[in-house]
Amino acid sequence: MNIQRIFLFFTLLIIALWVMFFSLKKVDVIIQAGHEGLHSGNTGAQTKLYREVDWNVKVANRVAEILRKRGISVVRMGANTHLSRAKIAIAIHFDGSKRICHSGASVGYPNNNSKAFAQRWKRVYKKYFPFKWHKDNFTPALRHYYGYYWIRADRFLLLELGEITCAKQAKWLKPRLDKIAQMIADTIRKELWTIK
Ligand SMILES: [Zn+2]
Repeated sequence: MNIQRIFLFFTLLIIALWVMFFSLKKVDVIIQAGHEGLHSGNTGAQTKLYREVDWNVKVANRVAEILRKRGISVVRMGANTHLSRAKIAIAIHFDGSKRICHSGASVGYPNNNSKAFAQRWKRVYKKYFPFKWHKDNFTPALRHYYGYYWIRADRFLLLELGEITCAKQAKWLKPRLDKIAQMIADTIRKELWTIK
């Protein structure tokens, strides 16, 4: 193969990938429950009493249910992602920490497009969540979240809603998971109005 043919091949390949990508249906919202469906590897934080993944699923299901009732198209995903498009994508997590009660809530996002949305979420949740907050993207896991590559969204937030390994936080969080889901759903609905 000469250079021109190789060039042509890659040009056509790139065009084909673009066409495939843009023919993917763009949904309003993708809600991912962190670690859902994983049986090995990063299966999420857990304590004697609670598993992060169970709480992630509970909150994610509730957010999806509230949004669907409002006529918003939602795709619920677990940890196994595939290439998909959405206006807004939210990954739900609770943190675990070896240094018990040294963690709390935080938010991660892949780029500046999502930064303003992240600040809006923080304003809402900071009024409610009475424990520690970390700066944005505070762990490598938040900066380099695998979902960022497969889920192409206009806005993408990875929410750490609190530290499940901190008994005080877990005790506070557990009866409030529905309320937190409602707050997430409300924040998403408001944000959707700002996206064409
Ligand atoms: Zn997690």
